[in-house]
Amino acid sequence: MWYNNAMKNNCIFCAIAAGEIPSFKIYEDDLVLAYLDINPFSTGHTLVIPKIHSEGLLDTGDETLAAVISRVKKVAAHLRTALPCEGFNILQNNGQAAGQTVKHLHFHIVPRCGMAPLAFDGAPADMEELKALAGRIGMI
Ligand code: AMP
Ligand code: ZN
Repeated sequence: MWYNNAMKNNCIFCAIAAGEIPSFKIYEDDLVLAYLDINPFSTGHTLVIPKIHSEGLLDTGDETLAAVISRVKKVAAHLRTALPCEGFNILQNNGQAAGQTVKHLHFHIVPRCGMAPLAFDGAPADMEELKALAGRIGMI
């Protein structure tokens, strides 16, 4: 499929979907992939993407959107028990003005614990710690 030629598309999330760039996967099926954010807002911060490229909410087909949001629910439910966490935020940025830095549709799942405030800027995670965390969370 065309999205497997990620470099042609010049999109980092297409490259992740194609397996050309490594990621710490939490969930994968034919249409959707979920993996840990490498600059997490909180422990277990996960991104959920369609494997087929679109830029944001408005240029994504309804069927793809439905598939992605159903997996957002599935992955969030898993994180709640696997981490565990008490709650979570769903964030989806559209356009530079909204803080979108990667132009491939993605939903952020940001686990929340206690009263820890949410910071919308993550620092780069330690890759070994992220790998260990992915192992603890486990693939769904
Ligand atoms: P946004 O600002 O909504 O476009 O979010 C893009 C997110 O992608 C940021 O939180 C980045 O930390 C994250 N990100 C960028 N590159 C990677 C990567 N290779 N693996 C995992 N997450 C990434
Ligand atoms: Zn893409």
